[in-house]
Amino acid sequence: MGTFKAIRIDKAEKGTTAALTQFDEAELMEGDVTVAVEWSTLNYKDGLAVTGKAPVVRRFPMIAGIDFAGTVEQSSHPEWKAGDKVVCNGWGMGETHLGAYAEKARVKGDWLVRLPDDISTRDAMAIGTAGYTAMLSVLALEKHGLTPASGPVVVTGAAGGVGSVATAVLSKLGYHVIASTGRISEADYLKGIGAAEVIDRAELAGPAKPLAKERWAGGVDSVGSTTLANLLSMTKYGGAIAACGLAAGMDLPSSVAPFILRGVCLLGIDSVMCPLPQRKLAWNRLASDLDKGKLADITQEITLDQVIGTGEQILAGQVRGRIVVKIL
Ligand code: NDP
Repeated sequence: MGTFKAIRIDKAEKGTTAALTQFDEAELMEGDVTVAVEWSTLNYKDGLAVTGKAPVVRRFPMIAGIDFAGTVEQSSHPEWKAGDKVVCNGWGMGETHLGAYAEKARVKGDWLVRLPDDISTRDAMAIGTAGYTAMLSVLALEKHGLTPASGPVVVTGAAGGVGSVATAVLSKLGYHVIASTGRISEADYLKGIGAAEVIDRAELAGPAKPLAKERWAGGVDSVGSTTLANLLSMTKYGGAIAACGLAAGMDLPSSVAPFILRGVCLLGIDSVMCPLPQRKLAWNRLASDLDKGKLADITQEITLDQVIGTGEQILAGQVRGRIVVKIL
């Protein structure tokens, strides 16, 4: 047994500490598959974990990182053999199970998804939990019956990770995408990845009226709070909003008016415990419905030693699009 490079979180007298260090292989947790991690990514939740700004980590020592893509090294699970290319996200990785910012991960084979042939391990993490959550949101809107003919769709936090992938996917599917951002300076970026219109998020930030002018048939919201309340009050009759994030807050100062007077639906999106069949569907749809060129435009690459510093930036809303982390 040797050691491998990892970002380790320890409990301190006050809060937690995070450092890139060597981790002992003997300390890996139970699991029937060991994976050589090639790529990980930086999500908002990873920012919270590595900075200790929220109690994401619930077991110490912890290896941070909620998602990885790599190659199976060893397996006693019937589904997996050495050499298989896999992606893994959620299931408590980086929270209660040793996570992804490491050269090695040991997990349950039941947590893994086989990568579609045309998604590389790097692409998988350029998409990451944020992009896969964006796709879960699109799938929920489709299940509701939304089509491009229903009307425009709104995406909030559009210059962020979930928002950028949602914008790119919805535009490829033929939707008229209204991108809401606090960074109007990123309007060209957002139009480049598929937004038909860019609006200032200040329009959605004040207290929501019970009902307001109908502006969109659907939406993907990664912001929560008054933004989500405004989105609901501006949704057309019979429309739906997929709620997947809380970048502005966990509260929802809304009323029942959009639900009972316009038949609007609020669709909840969870990526962490999402059942395997839905995960497989999401990854397969990402292979077909996310333009590779746009994914490249959305993505910046960093190395493991840059994760902690970049974690501060993602919490400050300064990261554009997606960050992929090179591990090996
Ligand atoms: P990012 O930081 O990349 O994106 C969040 C974006 O939200 C920012 O870029 C910014 O976009 C906007 N934003 C930030 N702060 C505020 C604010 N105070 N008011 C209004 N808008 C704000 O994060 P991710 O895309 O990785 O994640 C987005 C959210 O989704 C997070 O809350 C995350 O926890 C959640 N999430 C949930 C998952 C689930 O399973 N349900 C899975 C993955 C993520 P702009 O500059 O364009 O305004």
